[in-house]
Amino acid sequence: MEYSQHFSLQHLTTFKTPGFASHFFSFKNEEELTSIVQRSDFERISNHYKDILVLGKGSNLLLLGDLNGVVLKNEIDGLKIIDESTDDIFIEVGAGMDWHHLVLHAIENGWAGIENLALIPGTVGAAPVQNIGAYGIELKDVFHSLRCWHFEENKWYQLGLDDCQFGYRDSIFKRGWKNKTVITSVQFKLSKNAILNTEYGAITSELEKMGVLNPTILEVAKVVMNIRNSKIPNPDVVPNAGSFFKNPTITDIQYEYLKIEYPEMPFYKLPDGYKIPAGWLLEKANGRGYSEGRVGCYEKQALILINTGGATGKDILTFSKKLQQSVREKFGVELEREVNVAGNYK
Ligand SMILES: Cc1cc2nc3c(=O)[nH]c(=O)nc-3n(C[C@H](O)[C@H](O)[C@H](O)COP(=O)(O)OP(=O)(O)OC[C@H]3O[C@@H](n4cnc5c(N)ncnc54)[C@H](O)[C@@H]3O)c2cc1C
Repeated sequence: MEYSQHFSLQHLTTFKTPGFASHFFSFKNEEELTSIVQRSDFERISNHYKDILVLGKGSNLLLLGDLNGVVLKNEIDGLKIIDESTDDIFIEVGAGMDWHHLVLHAIENGWAGIENLALIPGTVGAAPVQNIGAYGIELKDVFHSLRCWHFEENKWYQLGLDDCQFGYRDSIFKRGWKNKTVITSVQFKLSKNAILNTEYGAITSELEKMGVLNPTILEVAKVVMNIRNSKIPNPDVVPNAGSFFKNPTITDIQYEYLKIEYPEMPFYKLPDGYKIPAGWLLEKANGRGYSEGRVGCYEKQALILINTGGATGKDILTFSKKLQQSVREKFGVELEREVNVAGNYK
């Protein structure tokens, strides 16, 4: 366990914006976590549990400035097999494990289910928080249960699929239980008989180009990685936090109205409306590679906001609000932030 006061978080988020935590702890197992939350001063330094931030790899986090409270960095590693049948394998994974390492481990062992989620940055414990998703698969599709500590209730919970209330980039951990828990391990159900999801357009066409008819788990993962590397900036080189906004859902009436003016508008039909790519809306509203000062939209994908050098969290937040305004004015559509925000600015 590590403990520091007035600890810089700048290099612990992928946006690399500046900010200090009054109290910073890292922990490698549940015993270390327990010793932190049972400290006699924990309630006081966390402002009665109101100012706690659980940190993974900071790849879905915009740090606005200093955090006057407690940061808990999860470094619980490890993976064990819980159960298996002819078709399935149940594994329990430490919440601090790197997500992509888990994907690689699954591929090596011939366990299918998460290959489409290759190269998503971050930790295993953060994956249920926003129900990570890509190329037609979401975390909830392979989720079995998780274990977490509830700060206010001072007790452990084991939550199943329904308890987590997963939605599109959403879960109970972004709503009622926001900043109230720390997830310490996640259990997954993976398949031993590779049932692969290659329906997603870009994967299908890439496999066709390669002349692969019956892909292996590894081939699907390689295609996903190639696609991602060709259009998503590496946060170690270009600081960013992936998609900044969610793709909005509009009503049938809104869709019919917009379609008249923008017949080329891409869409995905849902039972209760239409999902429109936020990147398309942003590029139409502001042009390609729009930037202001130290913040911009990534040239190849407007939905990814980038820190072009020395931006603060406030710069990025202000820029993002202008983008929301531009889409509201042009299309009458509200963009909801996908990225979490923490800290304060003066
Ligand atoms: C280049 C890039 C590409 C991306 N692509 C995708 C993508 O394709 N699909 C997708 O869904 N996401 C994507 N993301 C977003 C990000 O990778 C995921 O949201 C990831 O799960 C964040 O993990 P993290 O450990 O970095 O979480 P952090 O950013 O550290 O935390 C995110 C949130 O989860 C909370 N949290 C973290 N760990 C825990 C825990 N153990 N217990 C309780 N709460 C916790 C934090 O308090 C915070 O609110 C991308 C990001 C980047 C930078």
